[in-house]
Amino acid sequence: MIPAIRWKQVLPPRLGDRLSVLVAITELWVAGLFELLVILPRKYPEATTSYWLSVALGLFLFVNTLGNLLMAMGTELSISSSLLPTVLKPGWDYCYLCQQNSPPRSYHCGHCGVCVLKRDHHCLFIGSCVGYANQRYYLICIMYISLGALYANYLNMEFVVENVSQNLHWTTLLASFTPMFGWVFGLFRPVSYFIAFQSGTCMLGFLAFTALFCYHAYIALRGQTTHEKRRIRDRSYDLGWRQNIRDVLGTRWYLVWIFPLITSPLPGDGVHFLKRGMVGLEEVKDL
Ligand SMILES: [Zn+2]
Ligand SMILES: [Zn+2]
Repeated sequence: MIPAIRWKQVLPPRLGDRLSVLVAITELWVAGLFELLVILPRKYPEATTSYWLSVALGLFLFVNTLGNLLMAMGTELSISSSLLPTVLKPGWDYCYLCQQNSPPRSYHCGHCGVCVLKRDHHCLFIGSCVGYANQRYYLICIMYISLGALYANYLNMEFVVENVSQNLHWTTLLASFTPMFGWVFGLFRPVSYFIAFQSGTCMLGFLAFTALFCYHAYIALRGQTTHEKRRIRDRSYDLGWRQNIRDVLGTRWYLVWIFPLITSPLPGDGVHFLKRGMVGLEEVKDL
């Protein structure tokens, strides 16, 4: 079943989040159109099979990045969607801001204004928290941003080299790594500047998002959230990497990389969690 999406919540409530989401989505489109309309026609002057294969691969990366980003933004995360007890159970907290009982691993987010189930962190670029229901989309999205940036770097490579070799000088090299500097001081023609700017963004994007993906994949495999890894150093929810993957990516975890709308139900409910050595409890029988 496709997770319930409250589309009215796709637009983040805070202005700062809206601006960062706008920057992220604009850069995705600019980078995608730049590769499609500027780089690919230069690399393949004729519409050969290689050209169409490159377009297909680029489209696959783009659709999965944007699709997972939108799903991460639109998925309901708050505890208000869950049936919560009126009596405070062991391990639960009372949130005075939401005025309701908050289950284990849930925390209140000041940006979102709600308690988020299995809250990981608040991500500026999706303008929303990452939590129990959207961690799948977040992980796959940053994986595809990293792969997309790698692919763009591969496509851009010969034009960056051409850009630099046309005028091999320390200022050109400097400008290639800091395109804004090159543009301000007139070291680049506009097209060259744009190529340098996009390739610089793709290089930085690849390094940053690869590191981000590795970190989040690592803690997901350990059954931890960012809060549990960095603040309270809690590994009590580590059920082994196979079960930890299913808890994040769903029961059809091996398919989620193909398309964001492929269903992969999460085995739990985001409220009750199994701890190490607790296998067999009635509330997690369906794991
Ligand atoms: Zn709250
Ligand atoms: Zn948040």
